[in-house]
Amino acid sequence: MKSMIVLLGPPGAGKGTQGEKLGSEYGYVRLSTGDMLREAVRSGTELGRLAKTYMDSGALVPNDVIIDLMKEKITSLGNTPGIIFDGFPRTVEQAEALDRELDIEVALDFEVADDVLVDRLTKRRSCPDCMAVYHLENKPPRVDGICDKCGAKLYQRTDDEESTVENRLATYHKNTEPLIGYYEKAGKLARIEGIGDIDEIFKQVEKALQ
Ligand SMILES: [Zn+2]
Repeated sequence: MKSMIVLLGPPGAGKGTQGEKLGSEYGYVRLSTGDMLREAVRSGTELGRLAKTYMDSGALVPNDVIIDLMKEKITSLGNTPGIIFDGFPRTVEQAEALDRELDIEVALDFEVADDVLVDRLTKRRSCPDCMAVYHLENKPPRVDGICDKCGAKLYQRTDDEESTVENRLATYHKNTEPLIGYYEKAGKLARIEGIGDIDEIFKQVEKALQ
């Protein structure tokens, strides 16, 4: 099976769920840039301290620093069946930098039409206390507006409001479409139809990793 994987897909396309499933069923490790940066800063390694100087000044952490952090993290993991890159690369420049250092084998692109994503995200309601997530149509709470698990009042995250969702999608398309072209040209792109049953989508993922 392929072991170095990049996940692509707009917010709400379900790549997080599929990444978790690859973790629980095959032991793949998910590397998220945000988590990794926070961890490095907390542990105070040399690279972590370097990253922190950029973050403290409000600047973007340069690609080579992020990639060095990834290599450090991968080395520390030792033997693992596979690595999933989630949230990086976000631009063609980052993808090129990653390719110079690591052998990415496949980019899984989770494809879901924008109107479906808007529906998924804007009808989502979250519990502020236990973090449970509902959907007004597909997974409504038993009592309108109340969390089934803990009884707290559900709310809509700012992220999930319609205008925010539309902005996030526009940003995603602008930045990521060139990246999809990049992996396609390299013969590494696998398109995953991101609509339907979670297990059916996972079967497509498994097939793409063969
Ligand atoms: Zn709750």
